[in-house]
Amino acid sequence: MGECCTLHTGYEMLRTNRKYSAGRSKSPWLTFTQRGQTIILTLIFGFIAQFISNNISFIVDWGCPAAIAADRLEEGRHLMVTQQIKARGIEDKTVLRAMSKVPRHLFVSKKLSSRAYGDFPLPIGHGQTISQPYIVAYMTEVVQPKPHQRILEIGTGSGYQAAILAELVDKVYTMEIVPELAKDAKILLKKLGYTNVEAMQGDGYYGWAEASPFDAIVVTAAAEFIPPPLLKQLKEGGRMIIPVGSPLYVQHLMLVEKNQGRITTRNLMPVRFVPFRRSK
Ligand code: SAH
Repeated sequence: MGECCTLHTGYEMLRTNRKYSAGRSKSPWLTFTQRGQTIILTLIFGFIAQFISNNISFIVDWGCPAAIAADRLEEGRHLMVTQQIKARGIEDKTVLRAMSKVPRHLFVSKKLSSRAYGDFPLPIGHGQTISQPYIVAYMTEVVQPKPHQRILEIGTGSGYQAAILAELVDKVYTMEIVPELAKDAKILLKKLGYTNVEAMQGDGYYGWAEASPFDAIVVTAAAEFIPPPLLKQLKEGGRMIIPVGSPLYVQHLMLVEKNQGRITTRNLMPVRFVPFRRSK
């Protein structure tokens, strides 16, 4: 912050002025007028110096808005991790690190960026939302991501959850049904350097057969039942997290596991997600 603005004190200018005045005068002593000028200049510079020291933070803020904003956003992200995520029991260090790293404010519109680290979901357009930070962290921790894995996400939305997963595993496949969201997320993820994310527009009900099987599947829209193609594309020993329930009624976040071909489900907590849509 301090490095981006240099403040000139005016001291050099005062010295130059004195030398110039002294050069013109025959006498080593300053004339009455010169003395007057010096006193006035000293008063003016003194006043300016006083003003700068009193208002230094305002001046630096004004000159470097981007640097200040970056500081505040970083602090917001830090507080999000400590007060919303760690405080509610998320312990996986790799998940906490990813949540501390990914710039969530870039996944919402500019006018919402100051609220990006708040404890709530935010609209991302087309009637959809970016999930509350804690829910993103929770869903990520539950599927136990490991570096060598490949994960499928259904419901790219803003691309935020995909970016978190991309920090943790080798390859992320993400699908979004709304064409505009799919396009914007793909562009943003590329811009942020997430070369290990494949994003596709389409109905996630059918999954991504060509890239299957997946070590984990994260579904971020509430389905009335678990889509059978997703169960099929889950690897042996794999984990899926999915909100299940009617869009108007209570939904439950379910953990689905596949072991020796057998599917088991566990109800984790009541939640509220946007509905899982189907292509016509
Ligand atoms: N994971 C997102 C949250 C998005 S909200 C994020 O981090 O921002 C859920 C998203 O699922 C919405 O964008 C919605 O359009 C999408 N969606 C709903 N039904 C879908 C389907 N059948 N296939 C793919 N995406 C779907």
